[in-house]
Amino acid sequence: MPQDPDCTFCRIARGDIPCHKVHQTEHGLAFLDIGPLAEGHLLWIPRTHIASLDDLTESQASDLCRSLPRLGQALRAALSAEGYNVLQNNGRVAGQEVMHLHFHLIPRTRGDGLGYRWRPGRYEPGRAEALVHAFRTALGE
Ligand code: AMP
Ligand code: ZN
Repeated sequence: MPQDPDCTFCRIARGDIPCHKVHQTEHGLAFLDIGPLAEGHLLWIPRTHIASLDDLTESQASDLCRSLPRLGQALRAALSAEGYNVLQNNGRVAGQEVMHLHFHLIPRTRGDGLGYRWRPGRYEPGRAEALVHAFRTALGE
């Protein structure tokens, strides 16, 4: 299983660094975030070193993401959470500090003050069509 000896999450997956483990499968490990945004804030990581979402093969994505519904159900049940956010940062500019792919599952309660600065923009005429073209070209369509 490819791992990076200098990577904190590889070391957690190997058991070299302790964590509060919640769940594990052949492919993934869920544990409490050491700096929780809310009580019960979970991280779900692949056990192998993969830096970001776009580095996953389709088969790895399937192995990893299939556990998310169950983790979400457990989070709701264990914490009586009204809801939760799944947050997944890719690249430093997006807020990724640990360069080992991870999904945050962040329990939410009314009035918890958490949130994302969300300021919707709008497209100038022709810009949306140009973007669709760029995406389709990148996707080879
Ligand atoms: P991100 O900014 O998306 O890369 O998030 C990294 C997350 O990893 C942060 O929320 C940290 O609190 C968490 N974290 C870093 N080191 C550890 C650790 N040893 N055990 C548990 N969580 C950690
Ligand atoms: Zn790693």
